[in-house]
Amino acid sequence: MTDLGTEARPDSSDLAVTVLGSSGTYAGPGNACSGYLVRGGGTTVLLDAGPGVLASLQCHIRPTELDAVVVTHSHPDHWGDVPILRNALHYVLGHGGVPLYTTAGTLDVVEGVFDDGLGDAFRPEVITDGSDLTVGGLRIRCSRTAHPPETLGLRVDLGDRSVAYSADTGPAWSLAELGDGIDLGICEATWLQADGFEADGLHMSAEQAGRLAKEAGVADLLVTHVPPTGSVELAVAEASDAYGAPVDPARIHHTYLV
Ligand SMILES: [Zn+2]
Repeated sequence: MTDLGTEARPDSSDLAVTVLGSSGTYAGPGNACSGYLVRGGGTTVLLDAGPGVLASLQCHIRPTELDAVVVTHSHPDHWGDVPILRNALHYVLGHGGVPLYTTAGTLDVVEGVFDDGLGDAFRPEVITDGSDLTVGGLRIRCSRTAHPPETLGLRVDLGDRSVAYSADTGPAWSLAELGDGIDLGICEATWLQADGFEADGLHMSAEQAGRLAKEAGVADLLVTHVPPTGSVELAVAEASDAYGAPVDPARIHHTYLV
């Protein structure tokens, strides 16, 4: 994994991830909630669209360049900008039919925002545990995580390169569920040992993120979903200790070459 910094324009033959937001639960100063732009093989997919992600996205691409949006679960810090993206596409940009892959429960909640549903902006498709999609040049696989309601961890492959994203999960699930050969893992690390972490089963600590990624054989790790009240520096330190190698935080606007 190579951190290309904030100005990178990845080559279409590469698999690259740009962090559009990595703040857990609510947006923090200068950071949006969860959102990751995955580009490769000429295909551009947005994984999660939490509050603030649409603003971040426009620093890198136009919304009409999205080939698909994938939303992991129905908690609003992961989909809050989907209705706003719908408004942008429908009312301003005159663009429709963007595939929207998400769980049945998420689709109910998001469509419920509008009297007339999502209109023609999106073409919704329900995904669940085991779903295996092809979007342009990218293969996307889904695995149910340990987080209520139904939540899907995602793996995206381009050729022999792969990135896996935990979405939200407790430690009863890990990136290992998405198979071997993960080059870059992006794993939530909501809690800190330093804060007197008490396991709630719904989210991981940074230590758990590091340990489980190591056990899964993940080649490189980014930790994410640290809430604004937490310390990204401590999360990186605790995750690195458990991982046994340096771990980076998922830095907003940075593009990572997988
Ligand atoms: Zn959640």
